[in-house]
Amino acid sequence: MDLHYAQGEAIFTKVNQVPRQYPYLTEDIETEVVVIGGGVTGAIVSYYMSEAGIRCTLLEKSRIAHGSTSITTSLLQYELDSNARELEQYTSLQNVVRSYKLGLKALKEIDNFIQVYGNQCEYAKRDTLLYTNKQAESAQMEEEYKVRKEAGLPVDFIGSENNPFSFELKGGVYSHEGGAQLDPYQYTHQLLEVSTQKGLKVYENTEVIKISYLAEGVELETVYGHKVKAKKVILATGYDTGRFSNRNFGTKTVTYNIATKPVSTLEGWMNKVLIRDNNDPYHYYRTTQDHRILAGGEDIPFNPGIFDEQAADERYDRLEQKIKEMFPNIPDIEKEYTYCGAFASTQDNLGFIGPDTKHQHLWYCLGYGANGILFAILGGLMLSKLYKGEKDDDLDLFRIDRFDGRGMF
Ligand SMILES: Cc1cc2nc3c(=O)[nH]c(=O)nc-3n(C[C@H](O)[C@H](O)[C@H](O)COP(=O)(O)OP(=O)(O)OC[C@H]3O[C@@H](n4cnc5c(N)ncnc54)[C@H](O)[C@@H]3O)c2cc1C
Repeated sequence: MDLHYAQGEAIFTKVNQVPRQYPYLTEDIETEVVVIGGGVTGAIVSYYMSEAGIRCTLLEKSRIAHGSTSITTSLLQYELDSNARELEQYTSLQNVVRSYKLGLKALKEIDNFIQVYGNQCEYAKRDTLLYTNKQAESAQMEEEYKVRKEAGLPVDFIGSENNPFSFELKGGVYSHEGGAQLDPYQYTHQLLEVSTQKGLKVYENTEVIKISYLAEGVELETVYGHKVKAKKVILATGYDTGRFSNRNFGTKTVTYNIATKPVSTLEGWMNKVLIRDNNDPYHYYRTTQDHRILAGGEDIPFNPGIFDEQAADERYDRLEQKIKEMFPNIPDIEKEYTYCGAFASTQDNLGFIGPDTKHQHLWYCLGYGANGILFAILGGLMLSKLYKGEKDDDLDLFRIDRFDGRGMF
């Protein structure tokens, strides 16, 4: 685990057995597509490549799903980090609505995967709630509700008069089947298990230290001196992009999470809905299959190499206190796991998917923003098509150079 990007005792790598270990690369090989990064994003992209019959190899410098994937809360929601009207200064309302619908498409994709290959990752569909506890912001919430309703999304507005939750709510957008949750560690392993049966090759403990760009493709060099030749390389290295690109891919923060011990009741938490407030920074909450509560947020700016343990402990305490206040009917809330890590967001709340502007054989799949896993699904779908010569119009939304010259970062 890279201490700069993930820190603490992550619940998902702690409670799960390692389902499978993959070898490290001990020879020179050739493949069609090589994916760098064995987190959930790399696994998703590799799955779509393998599903499309493309020969694919995944290289992970450490262990599978031990980076940011081990600490993601795995709230899968179609909505973005900011409200539609807030995003209008960076993109059009039409694009925001398009992104919402793409989020729903990605959710459907995960659901289809589970239907076909079985639920080995505690996947569950969930409704979602975005809410404010401030009267002054209730109108903004109502506006967000209207935007989504007009776009045909299945939403209800909740106000203080019909609030079914045990916490204070002045306005909220309730989305029916607007989300899902899963165990990201098990999901990553399941994707790789399925994909290796379709021909994917996976190598752990195989760090890529160099990419050479050739006329017909790329040649990668691993830390042990082996070469991997491919037509395309896809960077799925999460927040760790510095070695292969000097682009600034977003504003980094540190976000904090706690996982409680299993609780005896979830009274006051209707439908185990995925919850997010609209505070700045925001907070987010979900439950697990074994009745734990995962709570996150309290973000602060990211400083590489600097980890303030006291500040982290204060934030973990605050998150615990917050859920105690929100759910007074749950008597036994006690945090068990505490962890934090880098998180990157962009001004239009979308990740980066697609070819580099300089090196045509270098492609990216970087799921930045709160919907990272859903963006990775879209990336897998669109990049596997692109490899076969079919460009999806939606790819433009995620273009690498969309902020160039606009002084966005
Ligand atoms: C506390 C927290 C909560 C979050 N909650 C959510 C959430 O609820 N929903 C959501 O969608 N997203 C969430 N995120 C973001 C989330 O972590 C990402 O969406 C996603 O899990 C990142 O996965 P990844 O595969 O892109 O990155 P990672 O899991 O970090 O994988 C990248 C991999 O690349 C490998 N790598 C890097 N360099 C090399 C190299 N040179 N050679 C070989 N391998 C290399 C790394 O070792 C690593 O394993 C959260 C993030 C944090 C920190």
